[in-house]
Amino acid sequence: MLEVKELETHFFVYEGIVKTLNKIDLTIYKEETLGIVGETGCGKSVTALSILRLIPSPGKIVGGKILFEGQDLLKKEKEKMRKIRGNKISMIFQNPTSSLNPVFTVGDQLTAVIRNHQKVSKEEARKRAIEMFKQVGLPDPRRTLQKYPHELSGGMQQRVMIAAALSCEPSLLIADEPTTALDVTIQAQILNLMEGLKEKLKTSILLITHNLGIVAKICDRVAIMYAGEFVEEAPIEEIFGNPKHPYSKGLLESIPKVTQKGKLETIGGTVCDLLDPPSGCRFHARCPSSMEICQKERPGQTKIGKNHFVFCHLYNS
Ligand code: SF4
Repeated sequence: MLEVKELETHFFVYEGIVKTLNKIDLTIYKEETLGIVGETGCGKSVTALSILRLIPSPGKIVGGKILFEGQDLLKKEKEKMRKIRGNKISMIFQNPTSSLNPVFTVGDQLTAVIRNHQKVSKEEARKRAIEMFKQVGLPDPRRTLQKYPHELSGGMQQRVMIAAALSCEPSLLIADEPTTALDVTIQAQILNLMEGLKEKLKTSILLITHNLGIVAKICDRVAIMYAGEFVEEAPIEEIFGNPKHPYSKGLLESIPKVTQKGKLETIGGTVCDLLDPPSGCRFHARCPSSMEICQKERPGQTKIGKNHFVFCHLYNS
C-alpha cells in the first residue's frame, strides 16, 4: 500500500543542516499494523509527517519517493494532497488536548471534518458523527457531540480524535504515540479500540511509539529506527525472539522485567549529533561489536529470514 524509498528530510537551521531522515526505505502492506520504534528524536514523527507532507518549516523533504497506492505523494499538487489527507491517510497525534480546538464543540469539529472530505449535508454529517462516536465507544453520543473538549477526559478526547481520523474510512491510519498522554488503563482501552476498528474497517496502521510493550500487543511487524535510519525490520515474533542488530538487542535488554534484580541494562553513550552525523554506521560509537569498516561504510540491507532485514556489517556476506 505504501512504499517509502530513499526518503531524506532535512531541517535547515541557523547552525547548519540537521539530516533527520537519511535515505530511509519503508513498506506498509494492506491491513497490517507496522510499528516504528526508537528513542525520542530518532526521526519517527518526522517519518509520519513526511508521509503526509506536513513537515513544518525549516524542514524540507529533499529526496526520495513516497508511493501510496502506486502514486508518488511528493509529486501531488497541494490540493490533491489535501484530499488524500483525511480521506485516504489519517493521523492521530500524541496529545488530543492540543489537537482539538477548545472553542468549538467536538460535534462541530467532527462534522466539519466529515463535510470537508465528503459531499454530505449537515444533517448527514451529524448522523455519521453520532455513528462514529458509537463505534469508538463514547457514551451518550448525542450529548457528547455538544460538549467542548475541556468537558471530556483525556481518554474521551483521544476517542474523538480516533473518530475524526476514521470518519472517512482511510486506507492508512498513522498513530503517533496515541496513548503516551493517557494513563495505563485508558491506554489499554484505546489500543483495544484501535485493534477492533482495524479489523472492522480493514485499515492499515502505522504506529509510532517508543513503547515495546505496545508494539508486542498490536503490531504485525516492527521497524527499529536509530538516528534517522532504520536498523532492523522484522515480524513481531522475530524481533522479540531473534533480534539481530546490536541496537535492537540493547533496546530489548533495557526493558524492565518483573523478575529484575539490580541495575537495568542500558545502551552506553549518547545518540549522535544529527547536525554532524558520523560517517559509516551511525551507531558505531555506541556499538559493542563495532569494527573498522563500521566507521567508514554505511551498512546496506541484509535479509536474515522471511521478512527479516537488518542493516549491519556483522551480517554482510
Ligand atoms: Fe555495530 Fe558495525 Fe553493525 Fe553498526 S554496522 S551496528 S557499528 S557492528
